[in-house]
Amino acid sequence: MTLQSIDPATGNVYATFAPTSATALEQALASAERTAITWAAQPLTTRLALLRALARRLRAERTRLARLITDEMGKLSAEAEAEAEIDKCALVCDYYAEHAATQLADIPLTSDASRSLLAHQPLGVVLAVMPWNFPFWQVLRCAAPALAAGNVVLLKHASNVPRCALAIAELFTAVDAPEGVFQTLLIDAETAEQVVADPRVRAVSLTGSERAGRRVAGIAGANLKKSLLELGGADACVILEDADLERAAETGARSRFINAGQSCIAAKRFIVVEAVADDFVARLQSRVEALVPGDPRDPATTLAPLARADLRETLHQQVEQSRTAGAELRCGGQPQPGPGWFYAPTLLDRVGPGMPAYDDELFGPVATVIRVADEAAALRVANDSRFGLGGSVWSADAARGERFARAMACGAAFVNGLVKSDPRLPFGGIKDSGYGRELGAPGIAEFLNLKTLWIA
Ligand code: NDP
Repeated sequence: MTLQSIDPATGNVYATFAPTSATALEQALASAERTAITWAAQPLTTRLALLRALARRLRAERTRLARLITDEMGKLSAEAEAEAEIDKCALVCDYYAEHAATQLADIPLTSDASRSLLAHQPLGVVLAVMPWNFPFWQVLRCAAPALAAGNVVLLKHASNVPRCALAIAELFTAVDAPEGVFQTLLIDAETAEQVVADPRVRAVSLTGSERAGRRVAGIAGANLKKSLLELGGADACVILEDADLERAAETGARSRFINAGQSCIAAKRFIVVEAVADDFVARLQSRVEALVPGDPRDPATTLAPLARADLRETLHQQVEQSRTAGAELRCGGQPQPGPGWFYAPTLLDRVGPGMPAYDDELFGPVATVIRVADEAAALRVANDSRFGLGGSVWSADAARGERFARAMACGAAFVNGLVKSDPRLPFGGIKDSGYGRELGAPGIAEFLNLKTLWIA
């Protein structure tokens, strides 16, 4: 196996990397195990100083790192999407540098002891299995709280982003992180499964597909170790009849097409009350048709390529199957001719159960509209999904929006706004979208031993 870094806009191979050898993998595991003890023993201020230094380094190098993301997985540099990802990584480092002391402070307990309390202690070596869609952000949002808590991190990144994976490890070296605190392993999925099972690894965090999640969580469970899964989503974006249709269409289009639709919390199912459906669909369609696919380095481009050829093939099959089952194609619906893995910005209307566009996750630039009679039907359809990551609802009545949001079966529901991740807001799903929470206070608590101390 070799790992290739390929430009998704052209198909050109930038670089090829040899995988981490068995000897180097063994050394990395041994180093992680050793460092887990010394890192946990460091004063919290030392650990947090590392996060602050990392944040500064990320900001100082944002242009170079953003370019790496654009080159390797095709994210638009226009509107600074790639740079915004790097800025957000700095933000999550700063967030935990500022809040970890409070989040990790002992909690006094009342018992029959003269003193009892809950102490927050690290678990040890955490394996991060991460995807390519936000190749820096996904890693840092896992690593920042884990490191602040005193754990050390091994990264198994997606095989199509080896340059990003190596660049992240280099950032840690550049800020003088102790050896073994953060290490990148260039390994395939099969080897990663062995690392999950290795007794030196105490926990695993995976962001990616359901398939990978089931596999990794199964191995973690069989080895009695903690896992956190952030898997796919099919987020509902519900448009009630009193919604501000212009804002909903604007935000909805942004949510669905950002990162070429390759986001777990994109608005994947627009569930629209029939009374306003024609109006909303027209507004959405004009925005979809205005998207300009092209070189992600060109500021005029507004739609990025997909990250890999196989992802485009899967997406196209899902669109074709949905059409065969009765979905109405309003625009797009095919791969773009020419080099690169572009897919025409697509809008499917009158989608229903039994279609991949209704039942599954479409990870690309395809908006799906499901028409419903009223609010009650909208809620039924919103919750009629095996996924439960995020969701949103649009209504002029904030109280009505909140009632609806509370009833949505998902991990985060937004009223009149774009579903987004934010270091301050816990993030994660229910049902087949996984379990556990990243970010915020719950994010740092995931990989902790909540130790009870009882002192007579
Ligand atoms: P995968 O789930 O296969 O990849 C995500 C990560 O998991 C990669 O690092 C991958 O490594 C690793 N991995 C895969 N299988 C295993 C395994 N058995 N043991 C250990 N690690 C494993 O996703 P894909 O890139 O193939 O994307 C497929 C679909 O997954 C997308 O179309 C989308 O629906 C969903 N997805 C969701 C994401 C999200 O943000 N929730 C992110 C990415 C994908 P390797 O690359 O070497 O296979």
